Amino acid sequence: MQFFSTRTKLIFILSLILLSGFFITNVISYRASKRQIHSSIVESSLPLARDNVYSEIQRDLTRPIFVSSLMANDTFLKDWVTGGEKQIRQIIRYLTEIQEKYGFFSSFFVSDISQNYYHYKGILKQIHPDDSHDVWYYNFKNKHVEYDLDVDTNEAEQNHLTIFINHRLTADNGKFLGVVGVGLDFDRVASLLDDYKTRYNRNIYMVSSDGVIQIHTDKSKILTTSIFKEPGLKNIARDILAAKNEPAFFEYDDAGSNHILLTSRFVEELDWYLLVEQDETLALKSIQTTFMHNFFISLGITFITILFAILVINYFQKKLETMATTDKLTKAFNRREFERRFHYYTSANRRETMNMSIILLDIDFLKELNDTLGHLAGDRVISGIAHLAGQTIRDNDMLVRWGGDEFVILTFTDTNKAVSIARRLQKAIHDHDFLVSPPGGGEKQVVSISCGIAGYLADDTLDTLLARADNALYKAKHKGRNCIVAAGPTPKDNG
Ligand code: GH3
Ligand code: MG
Repeated sequence: MQFFSTRTKLIFILSLILLSGFFITNVISYRASKRQIHSSIVESSLPLARDNVYSEIQRDLTRPIFVSSLMANDTFLKDWVTGGEKQIRQIIRYLTEIQEKYGFFSSFFVSDISQNYYHYKGILKQIHPDDSHDVWYYNFKNKHVEYDLDVDTNEAEQNHLTIFINHRLTADNGKFLGVVGVGLDFDRVASLLDDYKTRYNRNIYMVSSDGVIQIHTDKSKILTTSIFKEPGLKNIARDILAAKNEPAFFEYDDAGSNHILLTSRFVEELDWYLLVEQDETLALKSIQTTFMHNFFISLGITFITILFAILVINYFQKKLETMATTDKLTKAFNRREFERRFHYYTSANRRETMNMSIILLDIDFLKELNDTLGHLAGDRVISGIAHLAGQTIRDNDMLVRWGGDEFVILTFTDTNKAVSIARRLQKAIHDHDFLVSPPGGGEKQVVSISCGIAGYLADDTLDTLLARADNALYKAKHKGRNCIVAAGPTPKDNG
């Protein structure tokens, strides 16, 4: 980590805190939503759909069961059969009335004596034990139950499901007379399932007690497939069929690896199971999208925050650097920065080729100016001179406030050129109006400087170089000020 600056480390830590914070809150809220969706499916939407459809089926079945029981207890019917099935008109009228009054798909009576199949339109046929269509009759006769439901899926058209309610007709002496009943259009239930599928994405279907699909929105599956053959579903098929007494819940992964939640309820009247399932993977899609959105928003916010932090850090770093390296009044470099740079410039690998001079300048009679015009005027002169010096020197050169009214100019030239720089500055100061005259004083206050110049020699330290410049400055002051003196090289340096 030592290659990285404190700033890089700070930015890195800040990004880490922001990103992990955002990520953790996103994950927590995603998991909470996931749990909520799961429990709302299992605890509310699936049971609701299941019980709704269940009661629709119940409602559809109760009336025809009741009507067929009514028919089975009708004395007219019993008398007509025991009377030898004369006057077919009468039975037709009876069946038509039942059919029209209750709005059933059909009404029928099969006589055990004559083997006639009476229909509301007339005698449909004579039943026969060898006819596969009539097997139901002989099965029912031997079953010894009051009534039975028979779903006619063979003759049902694509969307047309019919349930026959068969009721045993017995004479008063207990003799079996035949089977009476009505046919019920079960289409309404089928369309209810379709509705659930399209509106709520819930798959509702019914299977018989051997697992074969009886009602399904996908018509191609009806009677052709069973829950023992469907991928994923086949693993729990046995458990589904075992749950007869009360509604049950199951989960499985289908062929497309989608997680399916399933609830079942046994419909006793049909001996079928009602199955309601919902694709949890599909239900979670929307919160996954939200998760991704939140994630990208978090990235954006992190990016903006980091960018802002970099700008702020840079701003304050620059400000701190300026404060640490410059003088507040003149904006010139301070002594410490000068020393640092001087040592850098004169470091071993550079000193041989170094062409460098320093100008030590001191303002003449500043104390006097302070005394007569005030300390603020003195300040203005100091900063004005710093400004003029800054304009006179080159970009690479360095202006340093050395002391109260003393400056050092470090310039990368020889002594002669340093002298001409000092002269230019001397003239500029002389010509400059520092606007420090007392109110009404009128006359421009002329300010002058004295300069001591020393050229850098190999093996010079800052102290030796400054000592020569200081010596030269001393001489300049002695010569009457407003004067420039260049120190000659020391005899040792001249070799
Ligand atoms: P000379 O250099 O020509 O010998 O005379 P001088 O009056 O300038 O005396 P000297 O350089 O020895 O003293 C510097 C004076 O500058 C002393 C002090 O009153 C004044 N001075 C130092 N720093 C500041 C400052 O920041 N602001 C103002 N206004 N005056 C300052
Ligand atoms: Mg002075």
